[in-house]
Amino acid sequence: MTQSGTSRGESISLVPREGGVKTPIQRAPAVLFLLAVHTLPVVAIVRGTRPADWWTLAVVFPFLALAVGTGLHRYFAHHAFRTSRPFQFLLGLATCATFSDPIGFAGKHRIHHRFSDTEDDVHTPLDGFWACWYGSLVDDGLTPAQVRAATKDLVRFPELLWLHRLFVIPGLAIAAGFFYVGGFSRMAVGYLLAVALLLNLTSSVNYVCHRWGSRRYPTRDTSRNNFLIAILTFGEGWHNNHHYYPGTARAGFFWWEWDPNYWLIRFLDAVGLVWNVREVPVHVRHGRPAANSPRSGVASP
Ligand SMILES: [Zn+2]
Ligand SMILES: [Zn+2]
Repeated sequence: MTQSGTSRGESISLVPREGGVKTPIQRAPAVLFLLAVHTLPVVAIVRGTRPADWWTLAVVFPFLALAVGTGLHRYFAHHAFRTSRPFQFLLGLATCATFSDPIGFAGKHRIHHRFSDTEDDVHTPLDGFWACWYGSLVDDGLTPAQVRAATKDLVRFPELLWLHRLFVIPGLAIAAGFFYVGGFSRMAVGYLLAVALLLNLTSSVNYVCHRWGSRRYPTRDTSRNNFLIAILTFGEGWHNNHHYYPGTARAGFFWWEWDPNYWLIRFLDAVGLVWNVREVPVHVRHGRPAANSPRSGVASP
């Protein structure tokens, strides 16, 4: 079925997604990449690792988790804060350290919000575990034109288009750097294992947080707040909060909801690197309609 949606006045026509839009040849790089980041750390562990490999992982993992949550998700997909063009590029580079494409992710993720848990959702658990968890990483069913139509605010920056085309280069360079400094085990455990963990945690938000957890807000999708996923993803697991009001820099709406991504954004705001951080209005947090509105609403992503 073909549907259309709107974002910032743009119209997107979705073609049937079933089976994806890529040929087996086009899917091969993503399949090989997923195999590599899952098997190389195992090979390294079997061959033997050094403490420095695990200390590297302990430093790299939080960096990548914050790059995904703060950069990829809250900035590029939702523009939950503003920043300068140079720092925007740095955020883009940081997201590429996870082998993620800021424009590709933003397009896919905005369409996820627009069509959550419908047949046009790019990664709903209703399609099954494999399709949601790994299938959408290999082929999200979106054409390049659909991604660009959903990201017109990003594709106007040539440097972001460069990252869009060559997003694997920074990750390959980082991997080569770790190999040069610490050998195979440093690269495989210190870096690629962190990438693999982040990939799976991102998919766990898409799958687990649409199946298990609490629903504080009555969204039209199946999103849920999952405490464990929130802890592991530095706040991204407060997914029902997020679907209810996706435009904010916060995923944890209350002080007791662990959200280091939001704390980082507040820190970057305090030192002047970002500004116009979008907060959660009190009436939204408490699930009440605005004083001048018949219903509190879901903000545009
Ligand atoms: Zn979701
Ligand atoms: Zn989102």
